Amino acid sequence: MNKEMICIVCPLSCHLNVTQNNDEITVSGNSCPRGAIYAQKELTHPTRMLTSTVAIANAGIQLLPVKTSQAIPKEKMKDVMKIISKIHVSAPIKREDIIVKNIAQSGADLIASRSVSIKKRT
Ligand code: SF4
Repeated sequence: MNKEMICIVCPLSCHLNVTQNNDEITVSGNSCPRGAIYAQKELTHPTRMLTSTVAIANAGIQLLPVKTSQAIPKEKMKDVMKIISKIHVSAPIKREDIIVKNIAQSGADLIASRSVSIKKRT
């Protein structure tokens, strides 16, 4: 099997040619070893970092930016987004606070991307 893909590890976006013969994966077009590692992982177990927002109350903003603590399996994305859509948190929140531990059994925590303090009343 031959496949073309673009490496997303760094902004150079190298065009990769990937050949798979049974268990052997050959990669060309990569400018560094990270491209070959990316292509092999993409074929065997693709993962992605996920960033999104959750509703937040008691704050000067309505949405809190969140992200997964590590890349999660691509097949878990839908389950994680379903959970995220139902989350409501309340300020104060500190950057890196865990919002959901091991979200959707993905192996990653959902964490806050920024700190948010309680909205001051005027
Ligand atoms: S192969 Fe290396 S240089 Fe090219 S995009 Fe991937 S990480 Fe960047």
